[in-house]
Amino acid sequence: MEGVKKVAVIGSGTMGAGIAQVSIQNGYSSILYDIDHQQLANAKAQVFQRLDRLVKKGRISDEESIQAKENLRVTTDLKNLKEADLVIEAAPEILDIKTSIFQELTAICSSETIFATNTSSLSITEIAGYIQDPSRLAGLHFFNPAPLMPLVEIVQGISTNQATIHRLKDFAEKIHKYPVVCRDTPGFIVNRVARPFYNEALKILNDQVASVEQIDRIMKKSGGFKMGPFELQDLIGIDINFATTKTVYSSFFGENRFRPHYYQERMVQAGRLGRKTEGGFYDYASTEH
Ligand code: NAD
Repeated sequence: MEGVKKVAVIGSGTMGAGIAQVSIQNGYSSILYDIDHQQLANAKAQVFQRLDRLVKKGRISDEESIQAKENLRVTTDLKNLKEADLVIEAAPEILDIKTSIFQELTAICSSETIFATNTSSLSITEIAGYIQDPSRLAGLHFFNPAPLMPLVEIVQGISTNQATIHRLKDFAEKIHKYPVVCRDTPGFIVNRVARPFYNEALKILNDQVASVEQIDRIMKKSGGFKMGPFELQDLIGIDINFATTKTVYSSFFGENRFRPHYYQERMVQAGRLGRKTEGGFYDYASTEH
């Protein structure tokens, strides 16, 4: 079984556009698919702008940028993905959407194509269970922003075979990421480790032990974190972070240590979702956070 040559990325949103950029910059002929024409056009323009900026900053050469741009194709027709050796799905975090995409793809792609999902919190084993050959499906979890964050989790579902894991590991290394192989458990590694980071901070805040600013400052100055738990929630989106916490909690059948905090829910109910709403734990309309 050969290494990956042609890549397809499903969904041209925040993650899909970033993953496609990483792929084309590392020499992979890549096709980006979305159901939304406009979204696809915006994603392509965004990727090209980012490449232009890298040239201006001297991080890549003109030739590298031109080659990367030539490596990218976009489409709204799933049939155009038929030559892909690797499909990376970054569609919305909804089980039905992901499973129906993979079901359609099994009829389009070759019997050797690897299917990877960028899901943050859904079960890889469950998604794989919807396709004919679940041994060729695994998680390939990038972090935001995908072009910058080095870590990639390769998640092995119960039916995923070793050949699939090897090919994904090889691909991750070729795109200059740092892959870590893990088993399919709720939250994988990073989202699981991160739960107490947010939850305990919320409890400390709610108990009026310290303020948002104090907790963030201490975690950065003494803990060595680049961002504090509240800055990070504002960046990710408090609604997204809350949804992940709820999924991890229910996936562990209500283990107390993953229990979401009502403070976070109140923030969501108030529509204070973070940077995207210009206000979360910090106010972005009036400050430079
Ligand atoms: P997004 O909302 O920015 O993008 C989703 C894209 O999918 C949109 O362009 C939309 O038009 C498209 N889409 C909708 N239905 C589709 C379909 N049926 N077929 C193909 N495309 C379809 O979402 P995102 O933040 O890029 O997240 C994508 C996936 O990556 C999710 O599973 C999410 O959990 C995961 N993820 C997100 C982050 C993050 O920080 N945003 C980090 C890691 C993983």
